[in-house]
Amino acid sequence: MQLYTKILIGLVAGAVLGLTANLLELVWLRDFFIAIEPIGTAFIRLITMVVVPLVAASLLIGTASLGDLRKLGRIGGKTVTYYMATTAVAVTIGLLISNVVKPGSRIEPETRDSLATAFEEQAGRAIEMAAERPSVVETLLNMIPTNPIQAAAEMDLLPLIVFTILFGAALTLVDQDRKRAVLQVAEGVNQTVMVMIDWIMRLAPYAVFALIAAVVARFGLDLLQSLVFYALAVAGGLLLHAAITYGSVLRFLVGINPATFLRRIIEAPLVAFSTSSSNATLPVTMEVAEEKVGISNSVSSFVLPLGATINMDGTALYQAVATMFIAQIYGVGLTIGDQLTVVLTATLASIGAAGVPSAGIIILILVLNSVGLGGHAAAGIALILGVDRILDMLRTAVNVTGDLTAASFVARTEGEELVPRPVDHPVAMRP
Ligand code: ASP
Repeated sequence: MQLYTKILIGLVAGAVLGLTANLLELVWLRDFFIAIEPIGTAFIRLITMVVVPLVAASLLIGTASLGDLRKLGRIGGKTVTYYMATTAVAVTIGLLISNVVKPGSRIEPETRDSLATAFEEQAGRAIEMAAERPSVVETLLNMIPTNPIQAAAEMDLLPLIVFTILFGAALTLVDQDRKRAVLQVAEGVNQTVMVMIDWIMRLAPYAVFALIAAVVARFGLDLLQSLVFYALAVAGGLLLHAAITYGSVLRFLVGINPATFLRRIIEAPLVAFSTSSSNATLPVTMEVAEEKVGISNSVSSFVLPLGATINMDGTALYQAVATMFIAQIYGVGLTIGDQLTVVLTATLASIGAAGVPSAGIIILILVLNSVGLGGHAAAGIALILGVDRILDMLRTAVNVTGDLTAASFVARTEGEELVPRPVDHPVAMRP
């Protein structure tokens, strides 16, 4: 049986059993699922453990093998333009769907107020975290690390990427023997990490089961009921974006059947869905890109780590729906001009969201402020927090699928043939 089939079974079984425990109020079963959640957390920690060595080694090889800084500049330009464009499309889809479904007009004022009170404290914490965020200039400056080791230690991917690219570019100019020696180490690290990922991924089906069962067993289903139109607007928008935007890019620009593509990459969105973290999924994303889709290392090692940090179509779309929802619920009309502001700020704000669980909710505050909804931010966020985990899972799966679509697009424009390159890690069977 293929690994992704096992992961899918883990996911479905976790959801069904978690739901059973929840609906039938089987307290012992719910407690059991909550007790086994650490299996899932251990998996997330293990897979996150390899992110820094993988990104550093793989990007170093990728940059050095390009051999030409102009090519890197070209790939960078294309990648960032593509990321911005698809994110703006995602936000637009989010706005359109909210204008049609009007999720905020379908909620009773009593439900609104009781939800806002129930999650008041958590929302207050999110607002505090948003207030501590650096300014735009600081964010840009922070991309240049003063200490690359510290950036790595804090898993701050953007500064790590900047340092590694400069180091890789400089490496192409040093003496051949020395360059070879450094690259050999990087290649060794890269391959070793790939073997580790294979080991860790064997835990994935069990981890996914544990994570999903715990989330579903704990989930307040009555909350979902009252926020059902909001949740459906987000989920529907995400589905539309994946099917229409990614589907068209894949079919017309990459020249690959979207269903075939999805089958090849499925492990990545499944892990993203279960972990709610683009960063934690990055090792899986990079492995499927190279082995299952056939994207070259020089493209994937750059486009994917950058994507995990700055490309968040799902998050941006969710921000658009959430902003409209909060505006509708408090009876604040957003003009076309306001909605264009949402396109701009949600696109930019999603760049600033880290690829970790719930990052989107903190960034949402920026978008709310941009259209004068800051006064409703605390109550509005409290309102939607109850269903945020489930929506985070969905949007993270879309974020990761977006990164992989982008990498395929950039690879095609660089003239690459996308043919799977299954790698047989010989020692992978003998941990
Ligand atoms: N969890 C998302 C991610 O890692 C970010 C977010 O939307 O909260 O991609």
